[in-house]
Order: sequence, then C-alpha cells, then structure tokens
Amino acid sequence: MAYIGFENIDKYYGKNHVLKGINLEIKQGDFVTLLGPSGCGKSTLLRCLAGLETTSGGKIILDGEDITEKDPKDRNIGMVFQHYSLFPNMTVKENLSFGLKLQKLPANEIEKRVKDSIEMVELIGKENEYPNNLSGGQQQRVALARGIVMRPKVLLLDEPLSAIDAKLRKSLQTSIREIHKEMGLTSVFVTHDQDEAMVMSDVIHLFHDGKIEQSGDPVDIYTKPVTPFAAGFIGNYNILNPAQMEKLTGKKWDGDVAIRPETVIISREAVTSAESYKMQGVILDRVTRGNVLRYKIQVNGIEVQSDVLFRSASMYEVGETAYMALADHNCVRL
Ligand code: ADP
Ligand code: MG
Repeated sequence: MAYIGFENIDKYYGKNHVLKGINLEIKQGDFVTLLGPSGCGKSTLLRCLAGLETTSGGKIILDGEDITEKDPKDRNIGMVFQHYSLFPNMTVKENLSFGLKLQKLPANEIEKRVKDSIEMVELIGKENEYPNNLSGGQQQRVALARGIVMRPKVLLLDEPLSAIDAKLRKSLQTSIREIHKEMGLTSVFVTHDQDEAMVMSDVIHLFHDGKIEQSGDPVDIYTKPVTPFAAGFIGNYNILNPAQMEKLTGKKWDGDVAIRPETVIISREAVTSAESYKMQGVILDRVTRGNVLRYKIQVNGIEVQSDVLFRSASMYEVGETAYMALADHNCVRL
C-alpha cells in the first residue's frame, strides 16, 4: 500500500480549477519530485498535503490514515520553502528549538535533536548566529535543519533551491539527498527545473495544468515522453509532425514524433548502420554549450537540432554539407 495517497484531489480557487482530480501514490522512503511549469498546481498540492490549504474534494492518506481534515500540526510533516522564513530575532539554535519547545519536549531531548540537525546540515559553529549574519545558502541549511528537527514522517520541499546560485545549488542538492537517505525520510520536492528533478529524484511526476501528465523514474521521463507537452518540457526534444517526418525519412508516419538532439547523428561520411534513416543536410547554426556543440541542421526544408560532444572532429562550419542519420528506436512516437 502507498505511504502517501492522493485520491481524486480537486482544488478550486473561486472559479479557477487548480487541481483536477489528482490521483497519486508515493512509496515510503522515496524521493519524489513534482515537476512542471509555474502555475500548474505543484505548490497547491504540497500545501494540501501539509494541511496549509484545504481541498475542494478528494482524500489524502498518510501512513494508512485519512488526514484530509487533520490539523496541520498533527500531521507530522516538515516543510522547507524557497524563502527561508527564519525568525530574524532568534539565533540558529533558537530557530531550531522553537517548535520542539512548543511540543514541550524535555530540555535534554531538545538539545540533542538540535545538535543532530545542525550536524546533519553541516552548520557546526553557527549555532549562535542570527540569520542576517548567514549567507543565503547557510540560511537555507538552517531552514532544512528546521524541517527535519521535528523528526517528521514526510519532508516537503517547495523550490527550496530556486533563490540560490548555481554552484551552491549543486552542493545543497547533494546534502538534501544525503539527509533524505540518512534519516530514512519520504520526501516530496517541487521544482520547475528539469535538470534538478533528474538529479534528485527516485520518481518524477510531471504536472501540466492541474493534472499529472506523466510519472516515471528519471530515465523513463527523459527517454520516453508520452505527450507533446512532456517532450517539449524535458530534454530539448525535436518535435516533428508526420509531414515533417516524411520529408526527413521518406516514409509515412502516423503521429507526432519526438527525437532527442543527442540521438541525431551528424557525420562527414555516409552512415551505414542498418536500422538508421539516412539523409544529407546543411549546417544552419552552431552553438557551444560547455562540452556540447548544438547544431541546427536542415534537411529537405526541415530543421533538426543535434547535440554532439565537443571534439575537433565534431566541428562543422555553418553552410557545410553533412550526412545525418536517425535510428528508428530513437524516434519516440507521441
Ligand atoms: P505552481 O506551484 O505549480 O507554480 P501553484 O500551485 O502555486 O502553482 O498555483 C496554481 C494556480 O493556483 C495558479 O493559477 C495560482 O495563481 C493559483 N493560486 C495559488 N494559490 C492561490 C491562492 N491562495 N488564491 C488564489 N489563487 C491561487
Ligand atoms: Mg509553486
């Protein structure tokens, strides 16, 4: 049985139908990501789980119990937001012990839990600092410690890294994964960033307009998009209609096809592999993206993007003619 279950969750804000019959099951111990563009309902679903928002219909189950109507403070759920929302007039230690004191835990237990959490987020030595004296990354570590200090059943993280610069973000992604594992948490993470979702998650649920468009592990989501929306949101796919595919390959196609740029082969010699569609085109554009070169290549009036590793042998000039090939198994039917 699922550890967290959403059954037919509806949510309206006035006439705005924000969650449209969400059915979702989450396994205990999984790191699960709700991925999707801004405004598609990710935060609303998370807030319903935390009890910060009521549902308009449906049922939420946690660990075998119907918590739909339960008071937020009795749900035993930890939450971390994009904005750290720490108490500015309290030290790190005071921020962390605040909720534990409300629960009237014994002083030595509070002391131990606060110490453990500070260790876990690697903030030893900062116990007596005020939030204003900490960097953004450190403040988010405090917020993370506050999320776990209550020993929650479930940790919810709503775009916690969106305000943090790229380099620090990577190290916090790693910290969050490690804490998740070490504490045996069940975590639900929200992001609009596909790369972050790929790095962090056991399971990704791709949201679109109040519904779940596709669910799967990162490899499935990346390699087998099931709809044009999924292919458009993930992995910079080329999306081609049947007429375009016919111009490219010379055969008839039934529906739209998604092709990942890194599966489009460009070559100076004619490609010989048996399973491929082979063609010739002209290089229209080349962009350097770190260790990858992204080409735009035109074949029979159709433009296709191709990503190749940056090597001297893979350098083509704009205007150059090149062979191109596509394996049939890399043409994903939508
Ligand atoms: P996401 O987190 O995916 O960006 P949200 O769940 O925050 O999306 O919002 C989904 C939709 O609900 C948006 O159209 C948003 O404007 C609307 N919404 C969110 N919170 C409220 C609220 N408190 N009152 C009215 N509308 C809201
Ligand atoms: Mg949001």
